[in-house]
Amino acid sequence: MKRYDIAVIGGGASGLAAAISAKRTDRNLSVAVIERLPKVGKKILATGNGRCNLSNNYVSTETYTGTCRTLLSSTQNFSVPEFFYSLGVICEADSTGRIYPRCHSAASVLDALRLECTKLGVEVICDTEVCSIDRKNISGHLTLFVKGSDEGISAKKMILAGGGMSQSALGSNGSILDICRGLAIETKPLFPVLVPLRTDPKLVKPLKGQRADANAMFFTHGKCVQHERGEVQFTDGLVSGICVFDLSYLYNLYSSESEIRLDLLPDISGTAVAELLRSIKTMRAETSSEDFLSGIFTRTLGAYIIKRALKSPPEKTADIDESMITKIASTIKMLAFPILGTAGFERSQLTGGGIAAEELYDTFELKKIKGLYACGELLDIYGRCGGFNLDFAFSSGAIAGRNAALDTKHH
Ligand SMILES: Cc1cc2nc3c(=O)[nH]c(=O)nc-3n(C[C@H](O)[C@H](O)[C@H](O)COP(=O)(O)OP(=O)(O)OC[C@H]3O[C@@H](n4cnc5c(N)ncnc54)[C@H](O)[C@@H]3O)c2cc1C
Repeated sequence: MKRYDIAVIGGGASGLAAAISAKRTDRNLSVAVIERLPKVGKKILATGNGRCNLSNNYVSTETYTGTCRTLLSSTQNFSVPEFFYSLGVICEADSTGRIYPRCHSAASVLDALRLECTKLGVEVICDTEVCSIDRKNISGHLTLFVKGSDEGISAKKMILAGGGMSQSALGSNGSILDICRGLAIETKPLFPVLVPLRTDPKLVKPLKGQRADANAMFFTHGKCVQHERGEVQFTDGLVSGICVFDLSYLYNLYSSESEIRLDLLPDISGTAVAELLRSIKTMRAETSSEDFLSGIFTRTLGAYIIKRALKSPPEKTADIDESMITKIASTIKMLAFPILGTAGFERSQLTGGGIAAEELYDTFELKKIKGLYACGELLDIYGRCGGFNLDFAFSSGAIAGRNAALDTKHH
C-alpha cells in the first residue's frame, strides 16, 4: 500500500491549489494528487473561453449562494491574484472587475500550477479514480480505494477536491459526492447552475441564433425575484447568455410557473418606448409592418416582436393604430418565455448543492471524519459568472491544504 502524509483527491483548480499550499506549508510532507483523468486540470483549460477568468475585484459574500457562504470568512484574506503572482503569472482586471492572467491563456495558468507541483515534489497520480474511502482512521491514517484495484492508498490527511457534476467530460462526475453520502456526510441536493434555461421550443425557434441586449427578469407567480442586464442569446429551445446564467439557479428554488421576461429597451420607460414607436411610425409609414422595428432591433427580432404583440398584424406600418402601439411597446418591455427546465448538468458551468456547511469546521476539515478535508465546487456554494467560482476553488483549496499540512505537522 502506498502511504502519504496528504492525499488530495481531484486534480482540478481546488486540488492543485491544495497540494501546492500543503507543500509550501511543510516541504517535508509527502503529498499526492489523485486524478481520474489522464491529465490534471482539464476543466481549467475550458474556463473563460480558454482565457481563465480566475478571480474578480468584487469577491464578497453577496456574490455567492449556498450554505458554505459562511466559510468565506476563512478565505477572505487569501488573494488568488497574489497566489498566481507567486507562481510567476501576472493577472489584470478588465473594466468590469473580472481578473484574468495578463496573457489571457488558461494553458499558462495550468502550466504554472503543474510546474509548481513538480518543483515542490507533489506526486501526481493520473488515470486513477477513487471509488471509496475507509472512514476508520487506523493508526492515524485514512485509506482510499481506487477503481480496478484491491490495494488502497493511505494518508494521514485527505483532501476531497472532486468538484460537482457539470460537464463530466472535463472530469467531475459526482463520484466524490457519492463517496461522501456513503460516509454519512450530509450533502444538499445537486442542481445545475450557470446554465441555459429551456423554454417552449416553438416560441424560441424563430429567434435561433439571435442575440439582444436586455434586462432579463426572473418572474415566478407573476413576481420579479431578480433581474440581470446583459446579452441574451437564443438557441434551439434555449434562452442563454451570461445574464440568464446568473439567474438560472432560481429555477431550482421556484421551478413552477417561472418565466424569463426580457426588457429589450431597458434604458427607456414604457411611455418613452410608445412615444418612440409613434415617431418611427410617421417616418416609416410606407414600409411593411414586419420592418417597423428593424431600425431598433435586427429584422428577425423586430418581426418576431410584432408577431408576438399582434394577433393579426396589418400589412403596412401606416395601419398600426394606437392600441397596437401600446401592445408592441409592452411586448418590447416584457417579452416573456416560460421556463420549462434547465439545459442540465452537461451544459452547466457549475453545480449547486454539495457538502453542507454544518459538516465542516472553518478549517475545511469535516466534523465527522478527523483528518478528512473538502474544498472547491464539491461544497454547497456557488457564485455568479465572472471569476467568483475559480476564486473560491483556488482559495478554499489553498486554505484546506495549509490546514491539513499544519495539522499533520502537529501530530
Ligand atoms: C466550460 C466552463 C467554463 C468555466 N469558466 C469559468 C471562469 O471563467 N471563471 C470561473 O470562476 N469559473 C469558471 N467555471 C467554473 C470553474 O471551472 C469551477 O468552479 C472550478 O473548476 C471548480 O474547481 P474544483 O477543483 O472544485 O473542481 P473541478 O475543476 O471539477 O476538478 C475536480 C477534479 O477532480 C477529479 N475527480 C473527480 N472525481 C474523482 C475521483 N473519484 N477520483 C479522482 N479524481 C476525481 C476530476 O477529474 C477533476 O479533475 C467554468 C466551468 C466550466 C465547465
